[in-house]
Amino acid sequence: SPMYKSKLAASLVPYVPGEQPKSVERLIKVNTNENPYPPSPRVARALRELDASRLRLYPDPTAEALRAAIAEREGVATENVFVGNGSDEVLSLAFAAYFDSGSLPVLFADVTYSFYKVFCSLYDINYDELPLREDMTLCVDDYIGRKAAGVVIADPNAPTALSVAESDIRRLLEAFHDRVVILDEAYVDFSRNGSLVPLIGEYPNLVVVKTFSKSRSLAGARCGYAIAEKSLIDTLRTVKNCFNSYTINAVTATIARESVLDDEYFAECTAKIVRTRRAAAEGLAELGFELTDSDANFLFVRHPDMDGKRLQAELRARNIIVRRFDLPRISDHLRITVGTDEDMQTLVRACREILSRN
Ligand code: PMP
Repeated sequence: SPMYKSKLAASLVPYVPGEQPKSVERLIKVNTNENPYPPSPRVARALRELDASRLRLYPDPTAEALRAAIAEREGVATENVFVGNGSDEVLSLAFAAYFDSGSLPVLFADVTYSFYKVFCSLYDINYDELPLREDMTLCVDDYIGRKAAGVVIADPNAPTALSVAESDIRRLLEAFHDRVVILDEAYVDFSRNGSLVPLIGEYPNLVVVKTFSKSRSLAGARCGYAIAEKSLIDTLRTVKNCFNSYTINAVTATIARESVLDDEYFAECTAKIVRTRRAAAEGLAELGFELTDSDANFLFVRHPDMDGKRLQAELRARNIIVRRFDLPRISDHLRITVGTDEDMQTLVRACREILSRN
């Protein structure tokens, strides 16, 4: 009954994440872009050595040690780093921190991470979804010259897996020099293009958001971060401190730091996924799938002879879970996380079998 709901709550349509089955035994779970490999062995060691009595105490509200480690790895100062409970939380706080309600629209693509418009509805921020080109690439010229509260770009984009050229991002940052441009680099560690964190010194309107969930195999620990010029970071902290002082728990602060300190394992793991991505893409292309040229840890595919819903169901019947979005333009596409080589071989075999019976 409306009596027990705020008008705000009654108006909300929440984001729905991909299925997390109770048991993943016997399943090939390639629906939520998790990493198929465990986190750095340093994470496991830190967990074994964890002193439970420390959990009596609240964690450091600024997560200073973790931020310092991230700063060192990113080549920025600690004051340029904000950490949050997953990059979803960082993004949510960023929308509240930088965009006004009931004012000019925030611009993002029509096919992108669907949480962005949920944040807008939560804070009553207007938005415009600008269509990607037919081939799913982003046309920066469509953004330039518009009156906007800011811009949000997932780079590489989800679910299309495509990146935007650095020169185009620079043009956006220049065109919106008096607005915040959020670059969501959740998948950048799998990209041929490097991260654009080094641009923060040049562009005081740039906020780069990253996550430990994909390339660092820590989706379950919930840790994400933003890198930006100091005053933008201070604003994020102000908003965070009006919501929850301790968004990073003591366990996550410790293990995320261990992960950051293990460059070698990180490089090995991401390189392995990039190799598997290439092999899986070739296997699917041979079966007649159309694929975007993925720069992420997932493939975005469509088969001209089979609708996406049916293909997804056929794969599910073979214990393979993939993601599909029942949205305009992409309802026949599947988003397939790059798993182990073995997972991908099983998936390609299953697709071959399904298509041969079609
Ligand atoms: N951005 C993009 C583009 C994503 O696909 C995801 C994963 N759903 C996130 C942000 C959020 O990831 P997390 O909250 O696990 O850091």
